Amino acid sequence: MKEFSIIESFFKSGRHQRRDVEIGIGDDCAVTNVPEGQSLVVTTDTLVSGVHFPEDTEARAIAHKAIAVNLSDLAAMGAEPAWVSLSLSLPEADEEWLSDFSRGLHEITEYYTVQLIGGDTVKGPLTITITAHGFIPKEQALTRSKARPGDWLYVTGTLGDAGLAFDIITGRKDATPADKEYLLGRLNYPTPRVLAGTTLRRIAHSCIDVSDGLLSDVQHILNASNCGAVIHVDKLPISKPMMDSVELSEALRYALAAGDDYELLFTISEEQKGNLEVALANSNVSATCIGQLNGMSEKLELKFEDEPYHINASGYQHFA
Ligand SMILES: [Mg+2]
Repeated sequence: MKEFSIIESFFKSGRHQRRDVEIGIGDDCAVTNVPEGQSLVVTTDTLVSGVHFPEDTEARAIAHKAIAVNLSDLAAMGAEPAWVSLSLSLPEADEEWLSDFSRGLHEITEYYTVQLIGGDTVKGPLTITITAHGFIPKEQALTRSKARPGDWLYVTGTLGDAGLAFDIITGRKDATPADKEYLLGRLNYPTPRVLAGTTLRRIAHSCIDVSDGLLSDVQHILNASNCGAVIHVDKLPISKPMMDSVELSEALRYALAAGDDYELLFTISEEQKGNLEVALANSNVSATCIGQLNGMSEKLELKFEDEPYHINASGYQHFA
């Protein structure tokens, strides 16, 4: 199957066309319009088979995740997603695989009203690169660098589920069928916190998405903002399927060090703390206060019930 027919057959969906797309798939380039008063926000992420997901992952999940991780980066800036483009390297033009992949891609892009505006396919090892574009009102981008001493540190959702799911897939851990289904869903079909991100741009001082693991990602904020922080590990949000499957100390290790959560980690001032719950009420996600920032330059301390806490695990190890 030729490149042209792959793009035409599987990815040119006429179902929803955004009005800001003048020319979509089918010409040499896409032509789009950025609304007045908004900045264009762009991010790109590549997933490599055998590195970022196990080789036997279902095609629908691969497509979902490739889009979701990019929308998560947009969410971390407070941006509203608009368009994506796809570069797909495939060992062979397997029609069944392509059909499942395009189904996964259409499901998540339709859910977030995002339009695929261009694509390229080549023959090679299975690799998916997505570039995502979004909008943000001028000068309102949430960054890593504006956290302040005294800010409260919050995280959405729960942490560590994807890390445990990965260990279940690779046979190092086990869980009940129901817990397994939930945890694998968290690994294969992560939820980008798009609505929470746009809500937070008026409230938070800084924000990042948790992709490498809480410890690594919190350190990015501390380094960029020249702050320190104390995290109370006994406050970390842990899902019930996680609590049912492993000891607390292991659950905390997953929550602190495993990656692939795609939750938002953010800091807010004392004055904004009261507004947070109301603001997040319609974003379908809870947020948990897990610590506080201080003036100790780039130093991160962990505490369990106010006693110092140590773990011997650093950032996320990609599948290999
Ligand atoms: Mg990120």
